[in-house]
Amino acid sequence: MNANKVALVTGANKGLGLEISRQLGQQGITVVLGSRDPARGQAAADTLRAEGLDTHPVKLEVTNADDIAALPAFLEQAFGRLDILVNNAGVMTDKQGDTADAFRQGYEANVIAPYFLTQALLPLLQASPAGRIVNHSSVLGSLATNASGQIPPDWLLPIYNSSKAALNMLTVIQAQRLKNTPVKVNAAHPGSVKTDMNQAGTLTTAQGARSAVLLATLPDDGPTGGFFHNGKPLPW
Ligand code: NAP
Repeated sequence: MNANKVALVTGANKGLGLEISRQLGQQGITVVLGSRDPARGQAAADTLRAEGLDTHPVKLEVTNADDIAALPAFLEQAFGRLDILVNNAGVMTDKQGDTADAFRQGYEANVIAPYFLTQALLPLLQASPAGRIVNHSSVLGSLATNASGQIPPDWLLPIYNSSKAALNMLTVIQAQRLKNTPVKVNAAHPGSVKTDMNQAGTLTTAQGARSAVLLATLPDDGPTGGFFHNGKPLPW
């Protein structure tokens, strides 16, 4: 069994996923970088290895059932454990227009994939003394914030916002199901971070990764079933 904790981060080849992987690696955690493009995943893992971190790529298209099915055996054989799952991969398909196809793609990646990936990896996470699941959500998925009128009209996105609201619900459901176990399940909002998804973001990926990293490394007396930005609770 790997001596260090092992984390899997999805969508880890760039943006917030890459930076979450870096910050977890800097804490001595072995990080498996999930990436749908093996070459980009290898390049990202190599970049972090050159920084002295213990990182490994795995091909993971989160909407591909075969990729998900292969993961538990791969993690078991390669590392013998999984302590942290960060469901980071996500898309903002509203950019393609308000179509049924865009809805399906958005929900596949942002809702259905993290649910089934989590289900597949639960046995390994439950075998960990301190399993942690982080769903990378967004304040745009908060019903309360959308209803408050604080969201500018351009960001009232039917697909993205409703898919992150659904991801928040899955966070609550998984946390309730696991409440009598050591596994903690929480949702993170990174802030408005400049990435390929959000060119208008004002935070760096280093700043934005912090919310997910805090939840991925919660102590045993930390919260479960919550929604947080930089350790502070957000309204659902
Ligand atoms: P990004 O730079 O566009 O990165 C998204 C990552 O997800 C990429 O690695 C992408 O892979 C991967 N991905 C997308 N669909 C995938 C799939 N089906 N299978 C596997 N990987 C997939 O975006 P980001 O800003 O870093 O976003 C990361 C997460 O934070 C997302 O869940 C997003 O909703 C959330 N978030 C971001 C912000 C922000 O301000 N940036 C705010 C709130 C929440 P490819 O490179 O192959 O496309």
